[in-house]
Amino acid sequence: MKTVNQVYINGRFVTPHGEELFDLYNPATKTVIGRVRLADEVDAQTAIAAAKAAYPEFRQTTKAERMDYLQRLHDAVAAKTAELVDRMVEEYGAPRSMSSGTVARAAEAFRLAKVLLETFEFEKQAGAARVVLEPLGVVGLITPWNANYSFICSKLAMVIASGSTAVIKPSEMSALQTQLLTECLHEAGLPSGVFNIVTGRGDTVGTEIVRHQDIAKISFTGSTRVGKRIAREAVETMKRVTLELGGKSPNVILEDADLEKAIPLALSAVSINSGQACIAGSRLLVPERLLDEVIRLIKRHSADLTVGDPRQKSTRIGPLVSQIQYDRVQGYIRSGIAQGAELIVGGEGHPEGLEQGYFVRPTVFARVTPEMTIAREEIFGPVLSVLTYKSETQAIEMANDTVYGLQAYVSGTDLQRARRVAEQLVAGRVFINGLYDLPQAPFGGFKQSGIGREFGTYGLEEYLEPKTIAGHESS
Ligand code: NAD
Repeated sequence: MKTVNQVYINGRFVTPHGEELFDLYNPATKTVIGRVRLADEVDAQTAIAAAKAAYPEFRQTTKAERMDYLQRLHDAVAAKTAELVDRMVEEYGAPRSMSSGTVARAAEAFRLAKVLLETFEFEKQAGAARVVLEPLGVVGLITPWNANYSFICSKLAMVIASGSTAVIKPSEMSALQTQLLTECLHEAGLPSGVFNIVTGRGDTVGTEIVRHQDIAKISFTGSTRVGKRIAREAVETMKRVTLELGGKSPNVILEDADLEKAIPLALSAVSINSGQACIAGSRLLVPERLLDEVIRLIKRHSADLTVGDPRQKSTRIGPLVSQIQYDRVQGYIRSGIAQGAELIVGGEGHPEGLEQGYFVRPTVFARVTPEMTIAREEIFGPVLSVLTYKSETQAIEMANDTVYGLQAYVSGTDLQRARRVAEQLVAGRVFINGLYDLPQAPFGGFKQSGIGREFGTYGLEEYLEPKTIAGHESS
């Protein structure tokens, strides 16, 4: 049993003021594997004060100094890859391949931020004026449990690159992963107070960060429900916000798609991160006349979605993170059945022999209609809804008939046509004929999937405020 009884404030591991103890589970066995002592509002305030005190000096650092810090952060995380992967598998239940990818992305975020700084110009000319891009100040980073390391590192990388300082509130359910990651980040030897990590509850630590007047910006990844609340509260102190929220991503199979490739891809897209992915392709839109063939191929290829022990190499889908998540997904499966969708793969309950963890059966519904709950709401589990369309125009309308707009997928052989469809989809990213890792391209949502973009130049600019300075240059 591991105990986390420290938070990280002002460059030191300290006992939190908060006293609440919170159990941490292995979701593959439902057993308690650890306990965390949670931070509270007072800890959040202490962390904010430390970040505020560190800011005046850190904002003066040169690009070269910050590049050096970013390299050191990369090296410190990369050096502990094996331990970080094991911890993620144990506490979160992500299969090894997903866990390894997450750790690699976490380390890489720092390296890419360093590369970005090599050419990024913090001063630009606008007509007769000079525009200086200034860091914002103290930034609050609030992250969810479904890829803890990479959310923390990709946000922190931009904070460091910009010259701001940070208070980070990760999910309380990822405390063991956060503890190990914090040890790595500490090893990098950044000046005290530049980043502070306070694991606590959303309604205590999170709320304090969102309300505090010394926080200039919130970068949040999580649910649309909490994102809306943060946006409303942030406006009181006119904080900048970047919100990465939920999704209900459409996957449009065009008439000329190669179904032997498109269907396995569709099953991969809905089961990314065991289905607990904001970018999961959870609505499959297929031409009406291809439905029978699509159903046949889904039944055949879904046998490849091996559910099981996340430590095994062959496992593609691990357990869901918690009982709450398990119950939520079961509720959606029941709702699909009750509203008359045709269950073609999976269904309620655990896969046979996997009753000991929060494992669910990968599930596919056909003949789903657009008004059904499973076609509209984010499920956050490996549940696919197949809908049919009669024309390309209708496919685009159906794809865009959602409050979300994070990601979309298109499969088709004629690439001009696939691109034409992609251009009409209202989503922050559209993937044609594949799943791609694009850590330098902007990531973020249209509509209720969020505000702002992360990664690359667009991501860095979200941490900078333009200031116009005129009249100091001799003509
Ligand atoms: P969540 O919204 O419940 O929690 C996210 C974080 O916000 C946690 O750290 C939580 O403690 C904190 N929080 C909760 N209430 C708060 C409040 N009132 N004030 C401040 N902070 C608060 O989300 P979750 O269940 O942890 O994660 C799943 C959700 O995240 C899904 O909806 C998913 O789509 C979304 N998500 C989005 C992206 C993206 O990049 N767009 C990526 C991953 C997950």
